[in-house]
Amino acid sequence: MPERTPYIAANWKMHKTVAEAAEFVDALLPRIAATQCDVVVCPPFTALAEVVERRRGTAVRVAAQNMHEEESGAYTGEVSAPMLVELDVEAVVLGHSERRQHFGETDEALARKLPAALAADLEPILCVGESEAARDAGETEEVLERQLQTDLGGLDSAQISRVVIAYEPIWAIGTGRTATPEQAQEVCAFIRDVLRMRGAAADEIRILYGGSMKPGNAAELLALPDVDGGLIGGAGLDPEDFAAIVDAAG
Ligand code: PEP
Repeated sequence: MPERTPYIAANWKMHKTVAEAAEFVDALLPRIAATQCDVVVCPPFTALAEVVERRRGTAVRVAAQNMHEEESGAYTGEVSAPMLVELDVEAVVLGHSERRQHFGETDEALARKLPAALAADLEPILCVGESEAARDAGETEEVLERQLQTDLGGLDSAQISRVVIAYEPIWAIGTGRTATPEQAQEVCAFIRDVLRMRGAAADEIRILYGGSMKPGNAAELLALPDVDGGLIGGAGLDPEDFAAIVDAAG
């Protein structure tokens, strides 16, 4: 089985001014200088350029938190993949549950965004996850399979192999509740099976867990065979906590 490099990403959501972003990067870099992991920071659009410049020459990569599928057009308030690439942004989070819940992001829109991201050479971090009601109803796998099949519907198997998947149970995001290691492993293994059935190089795809990952629980989650990293919200705002999670990833 190929070795998968651990992938640890901080999703800042709508947090941090440009000055605060600069402070974070300056504090983070010395703390993770020796890491072998892929370390990614996902600032709001306004702080992307600052983070890109501050991390130049380091292993830290930069991701946006969303993008529009068209290259340009009459889409007030939106930002396109080529605009992100022009800033030297390397990746983009797509389908975060907050975008699905508050901004009407649909699986159909994601099926258009994923090919657009790859065409621009942005690495997509696709978020999928079930609600608490779906889990309680025993529908977790059904929900995830539907999201994956639709969201990845515009990609061939080689393109799917270039996507990073983040499993984020909605009930665990920002709640302090974490999936148990058994739940995280079970779902991430299921996701890998779905990717394999789509013909992708499933053993090479990084599958992240996200949902209240903290320095105190990261090592246990990151040691699971099908969990290849984390998408971190709250703990990703603090350079010390985030560096501790990077450390736990090895
Ligand atoms: C997230 O926003 O993707 C997330 C996982 O948040 P938190 O770590 O705060 O639960």
